[in-house]
Amino acid sequence: MSDITQLRKDFPTLKQTIEGHPLVYLDSGATSQKPQAVIDAVNLFYTKNNANVHRGLHTLSEVATTQYEKVREKLARFLDVNAMECVWTSGATHSINLVAAGLTSQLSTGDVILITALEHHANIVPWQQLAARTGAKLEIISVDEHGVINSDLALAEIQKSKPKVFACSHASNTLGNIQDVQAFVAKAKELGAITLVDGAQAFLHLRPNLRQLDCDFYVLSAHKALGPTGLGVLYGKYELLNALPVYQTGGEMIDTVSFTKTTFRQAPAKFEPGTPNISAVLGFGAALDYLNAINFDALHQYEQGLYQYLIQRLQSIDGIKVYGDLKNNIGTASFTYKNEHHYDLAMLLNSYGVAVRSGHHCTQPLMQTLNLNGTIRVSLAFYNNRCDVDAFISALTNSIELIE
Ligand code: PLP
Repeated sequence: MSDITQLRKDFPTLKQTIEGHPLVYLDSGATSQKPQAVIDAVNLFYTKNNANVHRGLHTLSEVATTQYEKVREKLARFLDVNAMECVWTSGATHSINLVAAGLTSQLSTGDVILITALEHHANIVPWQQLAARTGAKLEIISVDEHGVINSDLALAEIQKSKPKVFACSHASNTLGNIQDVQAFVAKAKELGAITLVDGAQAFLHLRPNLRQLDCDFYVLSAHKALGPTGLGVLYGKYELLNALPVYQTGGEMIDTVSFTKTTFRQAPAKFEPGTPNISAVLGFGAALDYLNAINFDALHQYEQGLYQYLIQRLQSIDGIKVYGDLKNNIGTASFTYKNEHHYDLAMLLNSYGVAVRSGHHCTQPLMQTLNLNGTIRVSLAFYNNRCDVDAFISALTNSIELIE
């Protein structure tokens, strides 16, 4: 796709060499690269418009406030929800913790919190802590030997456990599998559960429509979707969101304060204490503009084609085992090579300029289920091309020769 050659030029980090080789960036699951427009938006804020938001009457503060709130509206349009339902957080991790902490008074002994075996630690530990605080039970939907959730079995599990809370990743960060979250959410809600979908990985690749998905909460991290680090989103259906108690307290989120009593603002303000990450919000606004300007369907098809090419080339190497659902995937390939340690191969790949992630990918329970101590993960984005895959495969075969 010739447009990709053009799009790649928007990403300055892709133009460099590492260890004398052109950078082959295959770690977008950890964080995506940023187009120049995002870098420029952050830069413009600090070089020209820097001021705090929601505070000053002076021009710079008013400009910053207007721009900052406009990004919330832009995000809401992108997700097809209301701006009042979108809270700025520091990342998906913060968003999930906010919800899990807020549900404490709604759970009691014996209630079930249902998650899946392939969740990121950020979508496990806050629920485990919630269970420990309330006496609720944490139950797990299992995966098969490839790390895949069988949708029918998952629906039966939801039916059986009648969870009070159901939390599931839209796409796995380790394997890339896309979960059937629409059906899971519908089933869990039918049984009265509060539902949360972790969209940290899916947001960039699937562009979810939250009105259609109809989950109660959806979380994401801006940095995984072309935006700056240190910024996340918590979407919540307004009544449920507003009913959550305050999480962190301080300036900006209050209505009135005296030494005897404090009253709080309504959502989203009640969850946004202190000075927010203004430059990141403005940068994320530029990322959303960038995503709005490109042809999503064409890029999605392109990304899927590239992923199938990657899988085919990987599987042609003797001794490679690729995990996950290879048909229904955001473009992430997790693999092992015989009994070689993932760390050694990843180090060798880096010496060829190839950036991949190795290890447990913050999914230790999934690794335990698959009986692995880690994998090498290649995670694609639309700015990757066949040259990247070819360079990776050539570096991998060279590395294999070196370690054998
Ligand atoms: N959930 C998933 C599926 C992830 O992949 C990640 C990060 O890798 C997170 C949650 C946590 O995101 P963050 O570290 O940006 O808070």
